[in-house]
Order: sequence, then C-alpha cells, then structure tokens
Amino acid sequence: MPPEKPQWAELFTEVVTSGLCTGCSACVIACPYDVLGYDDADGHYKPFHVLTDGGPDNCTHGQKGCTLCTRACPRFRTWEPDIETHLFGRPRTDEEVAGIARRTVLARATDPEVQGYGQDGGLVSALLIWAFEHDLIDAALVSGLEGDGSTWKAVPQVAWNKEDVLATSGSRYTYSANPLAYPEAIAGGAERIALVGMGCQASAPPVMAARKAGKIARRFTLSVGLLCSKTFDDAIFPELFEAKYGLHRADIVKMNIKGVFQVWMRDGAYHEIPLKEAHAWTREGCTSCPDFAAEHADISTGGIGAFGDWTLTLIRTERGEELFNAMEAGGVIETRPSEDDPGAITLLNRLSKVSRKRWPATAVPMPGRLPAPTA
Ligand SMILES: Cc1cc2nc3c(=O)[nH]c(=O)nc-3n(C[C@H](O)[C@H](O)[C@H](O)COP(=O)(O)OP(=O)(O)OC[C@H]3O[C@@H](n4cnc5c(N)ncnc54)[C@H](O)[C@@H]3O)c2cc1C
Ligand code: SF4
Ligand code: SF4
Repeated sequence: MPPEKPQWAELFTEVVTSGLCTGCSACVIACPYDVLGYDDADGHYKPFHVLTDGGPDNCTHGQKGCTLCTRACPRFRTWEPDIETHLFGRPRTDEEVAGIARRTVLARATDPEVQGYGQDGGLVSALLIWAFEHDLIDAALVSGLEGDGSTWKAVPQVAWNKEDVLATSGSRYTYSANPLAYPEAIAGGAERIALVGMGCQASAPPVMAARKAGKIARRFTLSVGLLCSKTFDDAIFPELFEAKYGLHRADIVKMNIKGVFQVWMRDGAYHEIPLKEAHAWTREGCTSCPDFAAEHADISTGGIGAFGDWTLTLIRTERGEELFNAMEAGGVIETRPSEDDPGAITLLNRLSKVSRKRWPATAVPMPGRLPAPTA
C-alpha cells in the first residue's frame, strides 16, 4: 500500500466539517496554489476550497500529492503530541493541564508608555518592540481594527515597527485570524516573522515546523500566545451591546474581560455585562477547543489574577526563554514571582481543565481527555 498523503479532502472531513476547526487560517496561508479561501462572514470563520479546483471537498493538487494544508493544521489528527514532541521532546502528562512551561511569572513593560498601551502589562508589545529593535524579526502578524476603529471589526494586520505595535496593542474579543496577514508580510519582504495570536493560532508555527511544512515553517521565528476561553462573533455588537444595553460600538473606547465584560465609553461611562449573557455569541470554532493557555506558543500571556497591570506569562520554549531573559537583563520588562498571586495559578489550571474537557471524546485522544468509551 502506498504511504498515505492526507490532503484537503481529509482536512475537510476530519477537521473543517467535524467541528474541530478553529478557523485559525493556517491551512489557507500554507497552501502554495492559492486554492483555499477564508470566510469570516456571518459568524463562519472557516476556510473553504475554491469551486474551480475540485469543489468544496477535494483538491486537484492534493490528489497529485500536495499535503501542505494538513501539515499546517493545528487540529489535524495527532497535532498535540506532534507539536509537543517537536517543542519539548515529549508530550505533556495528564497533570500538565496548562501545557509545558519552563517558567511562569508576572511581567510588565517598564516603559510607562508601552505599559499604558497594553491590555494588561504591555508585555506582548514590549516583546515585539524588543524583537524589532534587536533585529530579531522583520514583521509581526497582529490584530488591528478596521478603518477608524468605529466598527470594532478586528482585522489581521502586519506590524513593521514600534509605532505599528503600539497602534495594534490591547485586546479585541472578536476573532482575528492573524496568520492571514502573512502574504502581506511576505510581499513586504519579511523573512523572519513573529505571530501573535490566540492559542489556536499560536500552535500553527510549531505544527508547521513539526511536520516540515517548508519555507513557511522556517519563516515563523516567534510565536506569542494569548490565553483564551473563547472569542465572540462580530454580531455581539449589534445584537447584545447595542440592542440590550444601548452601547453603540462607535462610542466604545476599550473592552476587557475580568469575570464580566467591562466596557468603557467615549463619554467616560463604564458598563459591566454579565459573561453568561454573551455566551450565545461564542464562535462555533471555540466550542471544541481544548487550549486555554496557548499551550504551544514560545511565550503565552494572559490577564487573569489579582494585578490588572501585570501580564501572567508562561515561558515555554528555549527560544522564548532566551528572548525573555535578554529583555529582563536589558531592563525593558520587570517581573515578580507567580507565587505573589497564587489565585491566578489556581484559575489558570482550572480554566485549562475546563477547556480540555471540550475536546470531543470521538477525536484523537489526548492527555487529560479520555478516549470515547467503546460500545
Ligand atoms: C480574544 C481574547 C481573549 C482573551 N481571553 C483571555 C482570558 O480568558 N484570560 C486571560 O488571562 N487572558 C485572556 N486574553 C489575553 C489578554 O487579554 C491579553 O492579550 C494578554 O494578557 C496580553 O496582555 P499585554 O498587555 O501583554 O498585551 P498587549 O501589549 O496589549 O498586546 C496584545 C496583542 O494582542 C493582539 N490582539 C488583540 N486582540 C486580538 C485578537 N482578537 N486576536 C488576535 N490577536 C489580538 C494585539 O494585536 C497585540 O499584539 C485574551 C485576549 C484576547 C485577544
Ligand atoms: S483549524 Fe485552522 S488549519 Fe485547521 S482546517 Fe481549520 S482553519 Fe485550517
Ligand atoms: S477558544 Fe480561543 S484559542 Fe480556542 S479556538 Fe477559540 S479563539 Fe482559538
């Protein structure tokens, strides 16, 4: 029997239409024939195969042996052990619910300007700025806002320098498939690219490297992850914030989630919206996602805990540790031990456990998630 060459046909049935697809867009940017598109209209956030080349569920290039989309997909088959064996030399144990990390600390930018722009401690922005200023990256794939920001539509964007990093800092809670900015970075001449993204996206560079997806895998030199239980459909703005609370998106200046949806308005007003009211707008792609802690990023960052102006930071890989240590030694970030905030670690583990239970028992088994019972 010839060796199996899983291609779009397998990705389509096993991931895209099975409920495992997060909409991360890694398959789209890995396709060398441009036959995959991305649909983010009406709450879809899914890749699709162009009709002119084999229809929605097959690919003529795949039939000839191309396997790049399945090699780039961080939900295809044994993605988790594949990535962990590549990054850490072993898959995680059942106890490592938040993934494998070398060090967990609270961190923040020492520059008050950077910290002020950041959602929490401005750590992510500080990382990118350091990487630009020390010639470690040419571009970073981040998330900005469409147009003048009044629609709150989060859009993938390329940051080329400190100004771009600061302009795209902070968190938007709708989905932004940041890998989609990759072609623009390449068109601009970038060869060393950092990706900032939710866990589903942060797993893309290492899965590409683990499965030898070629040039694209080599170009991702840094993966920065954002902790995440879910993202919301854009429809949450008109259907909940505006319809129920009269909060027009053009008047919203900042949002955060700290147990509730916190919303700050242009006129200085502040509102809290119970999270359970927002659940109905959870993206479908998040409902099977087992990754709260951005488990395969070089560095993962979150805002849980007692200190609003610090970023809870998990340094996972050797590459991440090298960068973080250099920044600490260079004085651009300050840290405090995670023991200062034991509640944050308890919550990290609790939320990670909850997310792992979402991985369907019918999919490939993983540590901390039991396989489907046999009949
Ligand atoms: C949708 C979402 C859900 C989150 N959920 C949690 C959570 O449940 N618990 C928790 O502890 N932390 C969560 N976070 C992470 C937290 O909000 C901060 O992003 C993190 O602590 C880093 O803060 P910072 O000040 O260091 O980052 P900053 O310096 O502010 O940099 C943030 C970076 O995130 C990018 N970004 C912003 N919005 C998006 C988006 N929608 N998609 C992709 N990239 C984006 C920006 O472009 C920027 O590069 C979430 C973040 C997002 C975007
Ligand atoms: S999870 Fe990501 S890479 Fe996999 S099929 Fe969905 S969009 Fe493509
Ligand atoms: S929960 Fe977060 S990491 Fe998981 S699929 Fe949704 S956006 Fe991605």
